[in-house]
Amino acid sequence: MIVVMRPGATQAEIEHMIQRVESLGLKAHVIVGTERTVIAAVGEERRGRIKESLEGGAGVDKVLPILAPYKMASSEIKKDRTLVRTGSLAVGGLSVAVIAGPCSVESEEQIISTAQAVKAAGATALRGGAFKPRTSPYSFQGMKEDGLKLLAAARQETGLAIVTEVMATEHVALVAKYADVLQIGARNMQNYQLLEAVGKVPNPVLLKRGPSATMDEFLLAAEYILNAGNPNVILCERGIRTFESHTRFTLPLASVIYLHEKTHLPVVVDPSHGTGHTYLVPKMAAASIAAGADGLILEVHPNPEKAMSDGYQSLSFPQFEETMQQCRRIALAVDRSL
Ligand code: PEP
Ligand code: MN
Repeated sequence: MIVVMRPGATQAEIEHMIQRVESLGLKAHVIVGTERTVIAAVGEERRGRIKESLEGGAGVDKVLPILAPYKMASSEIKKDRTLVRTGSLAVGGLSVAVIAGPCSVESEEQIISTAQAVKAAGATALRGGAFKPRTSPYSFQGMKEDGLKLLAAARQETGLAIVTEVMATEHVALVAKYADVLQIGARNMQNYQLLEAVGKVPNPVLLKRGPSATMDEFLLAAEYILNAGNPNVILCERGIRTFESHTRFTLPLASVIYLHEKTHLPVVVDPSHGTGHTYLVPKMAAASIAAGADGLILEVHPNPEKAMSDGYQSLSFPQFEETMQQCRRIALAVDRSL
């Protein structure tokens, strides 16, 4: 249910309604808008007459059902778009965010030189995996805490906010200590304990779409994080598994438009994993911005041929620089900046 308060409702009336909602066994989430305050009453509404019992409250304008299966993520309860901000990174505003860096952190020289190069080309955050989810147990699994330390050194050097993946509940505190944004990888999108754990830390979360997840499943995964108390969720379309094998995944850009319709959360696109081939990345990055993406996450490596993971889809420094120039022109054409 959404309890929509009247424009002039007093603080006491709002607080009274929060208590009423909680006394009905529902969780009250207060959203203060520019004109009026809305209280989202979230939980299982098994007992009848909740609507009627809230409608009579002082200062209440109306009580509406939330139709979407996800509640806090729904644009029904929040019309203004959510802006996620941490350090150098802002996602969801007029300016298009660019999170760039290697698939994996490999060495001090690799991560620092990449941070400097992507910053010079206009990136607003640095990505790099320290804990890597790999299909094969024999592949490079990441530098773990040593990799996190190198990411923190790269932030110290360049001022770029750090985005890095956390794979396990028991590592959330450790990764949150070094990183600005916690990435939940595609493979973990439905790891509900992990979603709840990142919902309890102050860091924003970048949630990647599972390769076979529907839009409702994706938004319900975001709902777990929001419901656990973390309002700063960035959605990431990173491609889905289809019958097509010429691209690593299939990158559906209509999802950007769909998500902007259904949710207030910002949406970024990952054309690196979404296509799996370097030559496809620059134009799909530009196309993502044309579709309205609030940001990009791109794999960039000093020497893609020698990368320890995902080199075949990584951009070199000159390729990244050129991609940024193209993306800047598209951003201007759709009234954004970059
Ligand atoms: C990554 O960002 O390097 C990664 C492993 O992505 P995904 O979880 O989307 O496969
Ligand atoms: Mn990768």
